[in-house]
Amino acid sequence: MKLYDCDLHIHGSYSGGVSKNMLIPEISMQAKLKGLDIIASGDILNKEWLRHLKENLCEENGCFRDKKIDVFYILGGEINDVSNVHHLFFLPNFESAEILRKKLSSYGRLDGYGFGRPSISLNAEKLACIIEEANGIIGPAHAFTPYYSMYSHFSSLQSCYGAQVKNVFFMELGLSADSYFADLISGNHGLAFITCSDAHSPWPHRLGREFTRIELKKPCFEDLKKVFMEERERIKLNVGLDPREGKYHCTACNRCYSKYSIESAKGLNWRCPRCKGTIKKGVRDRIMELADFKEEVHPEFRAPYLHIIPLAEIILMATKAKDINSEAVQSTWHELVSKFGSEIKVLLDVELSEIQKIDEKVARHIGAFRQGNVLYISGGGGKYGEPIICASQEELELKKLELRDVLECNSTFKGQKTLAEF
Ligand SMILES: [Zn+2]
Ligand SMILES: [Zn+2]
Ligand SMILES: [Zn+2]
Repeated sequence: MKLYDCDLHIHGSYSGGVSKNMLIPEISMQAKLKGLDIIASGDILNKEWLRHLKENLCEENGCFRDKKIDVFYILGGEINDVSNVHHLFFLPNFESAEILRKKLSSYGRLDGYGFGRPSISLNAEKLACIIEEANGIIGPAHAFTPYYSMYSHFSSLQSCYGAQVKNVFFMELGLSADSYFADLISGNHGLAFITCSDAHSPWPHRLGREFTRIELKKPCFEDLKKVFMEERERIKLNVGLDPREGKYHCTACNRCYSKYSIESAKGLNWRCPRCKGTIKKGVRDRIMELADFKEEVHPEFRAPYLHIIPLAEIILMATKAKDINSEAVQSTWHELVSKFGSEIKVLLDVELSEIQKIDEKVARHIGAFRQGNVLYISGGGGKYGEPIICASQEELELKKLELRDVLECNSTFKGQKTLAEF
């Protein structure tokens, strides 16, 4: 068996709001640089994208691989049901995809130019039945976000999937939650957790910004399904942003992003007094409403969760460059990644003295990140949170005082382990 770093939720360029660069050759190349081994195909129900996948992937013993680069793909996609809940699904092969397309096409629109997620007039239970008939597996996508998620519309897995709950084995946590939050709800303890990017562009601060490390016999659907159903201990690590970086972490106004406690939001009838915008309930508060536990608790098989910051963001902070796509950030990113093999290695494994030879400031920032000297301005209302890397524990304490008003929806910060400690 081998460890694979997997990003199981992306979108292709034929979907609405997605970069035209999200094509298999580019995705594979960027995945390689990032250090990812398996990517979910995304958008398999889109006819044009399905054709693009068939053109660019080859099949070897049930595994799909880019014809030119050594990156594997799991076929699948995302779909919106009648209650506006998004689900991820995975399929064994192209035949299943054709069957599913045919079955679902009578229930709604599956594709079209610039079209968003395929949307059908079936509830989750009926959808799960059809996915099963096509030999696929289904689970909630970004399960806690205030829009288009299971927990924004239902209070349990059972109430969403009905009798089909017996066939739901995994859940995508989404950017605003992590295993700590998700396991506060006891109904989630039977599920495998996956952390994915939901990337709409292939650049390294998007693709693989969250990923799951899984031990597999073969990089294929059948073995992944086995992991989700029976051998969840083969999920070795969930890697993702600190939930405070997620754009729906705190309860906040969706226009001016002012943050509110859940009590004051209720008192204000979810209307922002500053700008008259709508206050959106944050993932953190939604989880607290549903939580069965007050303290951290996990099933035995649950993998540790490692919080990371994309390398490009760290370089941006260290160099104080204008933006993440600037030449200064991109050239340093490429230099580091080509020298050390992948972004994940640079972030977690390479000796700081080695990174120092390329850029001293970046090395210092990576060191501080590894030590956990990071503060977060929490996201909310649709605005991403922001990490602040501090040079030392002292600086961190000072900044904490200085920023205490904006860190408000902030749980007490805990330093984190390095990869070597897991
Ligand atoms: Zn979605
Ligand atoms: Zn998506
Ligand atoms: Zn407002």
